[in-house]
Amino acid sequence: MLNGKSPRVDGDRLWSRLMAMAKIGATAQGGCNRQALTDADWEGRALLSAWAHTAGCTVRVDSVGNLFLRRSGREDTLPVVMTGSHLDTQPTGGKFDGVYGVMAGLEVIDSLNDLGITTRHPVEVVVWCNEEGCRFPQPMMGSAVWAGRTPLQSAYALSDPAGKSVRQELERLGVTTGAPVLPQPVKAALEVHIEQGPVLERCRKTIGVVTGVQHMSRHEVIVHGQEAHAGPTPMDMRRDPIRVLADVLPAFYAAAQKRAPDARLTVSIIETSPGSPNTVPGRLRVIVDLRHPLVAQYRSLRAEIDRLVAESLQRQGLEGSIHCVWEAPGVEFDGECIAAVRKATAALQLNAMDLVSGAGHDSVNVAAVVPTAMIFVPCAGGLSHNEAESALPSDLEAGANVLLHAMMSLSGAAP
Ligand SMILES: [Zn+2]
Repeated sequence: MLNGKSPRVDGDRLWSRLMAMAKIGATAQGGCNRQALTDADWEGRALLSAWAHTAGCTVRVDSVGNLFLRRSGREDTLPVVMTGSHLDTQPTGGKFDGVYGVMAGLEVIDSLNDLGITTRHPVEVVVWCNEEGCRFPQPMMGSAVWAGRTPLQSAYALSDPAGKSVRQELERLGVTTGAPVLPQPVKAALEVHIEQGPVLERCRKTIGVVTGVQHMSRHEVIVHGQEAHAGPTPMDMRRDPIRVLADVLPAFYAAAQKRAPDARLTVSIIETSPGSPNTVPGRLRVIVDLRHPLVAQYRSLRAEIDRLVAESLQRQGLEGSIHCVWEAPGVEFDGECIAAVRKATAALQLNAMDLVSGAGHDSVNVAAVVPTAMIFVPCAGGLSHNEAESALPSDLEAGANVLLHAMMSLSGAAP
């Protein structure tokens, strides 16, 4: 409390900066195209860095392109209290995904300045490089390298569809490459983000206290059949891979239903080849995306999907396989960080509920090495990765206030 008044961020400044950032890489449909390591990405970071310099921060970039804005603490050698997200977007992305977490972090620093508050621990705002993974195909790349989960050289070797590598693009943009990326000592990390789902809006809550991120994986089912003429070939004399699809689809949805309401199963791709209207397909390829917040349920769902495919292949007498092509382990966030978010939410008298994130975030990587939690605010219709992505200024302000209070308590703030 400051002279009996509880500290608040400046919601108008936060909103106007979000709108200024949205002009960089703006699309005709009101969204943003600011893909990682493009000129637009760098222009956005330059604008942010200019604001940070004005706020008295020191600015540094590590050798995988993560950007850090640092505000000194009273005991400046103590581990930092960190917050942040990403500024890169999907090709047809919105104004808030990631950007909000960065701008809210800067707003916390500016508010601490305005209120004359010194924190005991230094405070840092981070912009993780290539969170989206659309141009260079590894989502959450910068945070994965920082957390030691991805070797720097494998990140450097990623290339975009035009054949440009991460390393080439970093060097083109003036980043000094080669030095090892090591996490600085961090006491606690928080990330505030739009929910990217419809739950908060539907439940009429302003704040989601994020307790973890779902376990998730993608699986490729391949079934081999035999191409044959759709007319002359009797049904019982075909080797039709779609028979397996007909078996497993209802069984997949039943497996998800058994683990309702938290299981997520998405049959996202179904491909047949040759894909001709009068030919029995010779090959079927299906991609299934599985998610669950609890590790035991997630593993049992995975095992059941594997078993259903194997049983159907045997029943139909067809060759094929299912294998995991991508897996991102989930995470349970840190109790002390979650408690700081809850306390802040209560002090601000905001409507809140617990949530598990359905999407991956940099915080999953950060949580592997430092105590971490996340804060969600609603977005209109739950829409994200979409140019129409939208959020209310009052909700964004509320989330930034929760971030301010939680960071003040974690960093030992004193007027
Ligand atoms: Zn994001």
